[in-house]
Amino acid sequence: MSQQVEEYRLKIKELEARLAESEQLIEAIKAGEVDAFAVNDGNQPEVYTLQSGDYTYRMLIEKFSEGAVNLTEDKLIVYTNTYFVQLMNLPYERVIGSSFTDFIDPGSRENFNALFTTALRDVASKGEINLRISDNIIPVYVSLTSLQPKLATVGMIITDLTEKKKNEEVILQYQRVLEKKNNELSRTNAELVSFSYIASHDLQEPLRKIQTFIGRILEDENKEPSATITDYFQRIVAATTRMQNLINALLEYSRTNNPNLAYELTDLNKIVEEAGGNLREIIEDKKVIIKNSGLPALMVVPLQFSQVFVNIIGNAIKYRHADRQPVINIGARLVNKNEVPDGEGLPGNKYWKIDIQDNGIGFEQKYEPKIYQLFQRLHGRSEYEGTGIGLAICKKIVENHAGVLRATSEPGVGSIFSIYLPVREGYSTVGK
Ligand code: ADP
Repeated sequence: MSQQVEEYRLKIKELEARLAESEQLIEAIKAGEVDAFAVNDGNQPEVYTLQSGDYTYRMLIEKFSEGAVNLTEDKLIVYTNTYFVQLMNLPYERVIGSSFTDFIDPGSRENFNALFTTALRDVASKGEINLRISDNIIPVYVSLTSLQPKLATVGMIITDLTEKKKNEEVILQYQRVLEKKNNELSRTNAELVSFSYIASHDLQEPLRKIQTFIGRILEDENKEPSATITDYFQRIVAATTRMQNLINALLEYSRTNNPNLAYELTDLNKIVEEAGGNLREIIEDKKVIIKNSGLPALMVVPLQFSQVFVNIIGNAIKYRHADRQPVINIGARLVNKNEVPDGEGLPGNKYWKIDIQDNGIGFEQKYEPKIYQLFQRLHGRSEYEGTGIGLAICKKIVENHAGVLRATSEPGVGSIFSIYLPVREGYSTVGK
């Protein structure tokens, strides 16, 4: 009997020892001190590795390319991963146990203290601060989380922003250069506009004088000028009239930039009718047929659009074909932005395409860019009167309305002038 008791006592002792061993193992696993352990099962040792739980997280924190630091409530560093030590370029012993405040640039300390206090209140906080190690400033993004109540520390992830800041600085520099260039451009543009305004304004004065005195000489009844003199004078009058027209057109061109003009919801059919009224004499004289299949009402500066239609319809009549009755077809349809030539940078997705088509003499398509340039003309002055400014004005007006003006043409067949204007929600209706 006593032998049996002794056996039981030994068995219990052995079990107690194994239990203590297991408890130690569990504690060690919990503390992250064990990565693998062996179990002897029926004389067959088996190895269990701990690839889950703490181990994975410890590896992750240690290896990932952000700084990870644990701070006590007094901001003492009780844990740091390798990344942070390398970021500070200091030996591990200089970092661990130091106050984190020592690594913060004085200018960022207040900001960091606020973030830290927030984190201590169990509210995660994030922000940008500058770290400083001797003269080297490192901009970083910190994200703080309280690890209480399990651990009396605040965990912090630190992202190095040096590269990002460098890129931002480069972008900022480009932006500054661009802004400067933009300002220069608007200044030059403004100067140009005021130059053309002043130049044309001032040019009018001597011109008027020339015209007045020529008139007086020709009217002087006492002196009958010779035929040659009369011819010369008539040529001078013609030249000065042309100069007058050029100056007026230039003045009109400089006025298209006036930013104070009021946009109104305008029925473009009315504008076409008005243009027809303006050109009535020549329309009747040349038996021009104008067919309008219906235009929308759009937000435009009415006076400017009158000018656009008068210029384009006027050209359609001026550059008519000698062998046929001039017919002008006007109409509009909605198109998507991708159908607008060079429309990438334009606002909105839907556009009105307003076509003014003539059956006139046309021109070669390759010359299209030329017709919008100031003083550029494709047809001779002896055959067709003109200043070469009309389409430059039209283009500027259309572009000031965030639109595009284009022309397609074929010599001997005719031209289509297309005005693309953005559809503004609630601001366009179709009508006639
Ligand atoms: P202009 O005063 O010479 O008419 P514009 O600027 O209105 O000036 O037009 C520039 C040039 O474009 C004209 O000189 C002409 O050669 C050409 N052009 C304009 N409209 C037409 C058209 N409907 N048909 C043929 N050519 C045209």
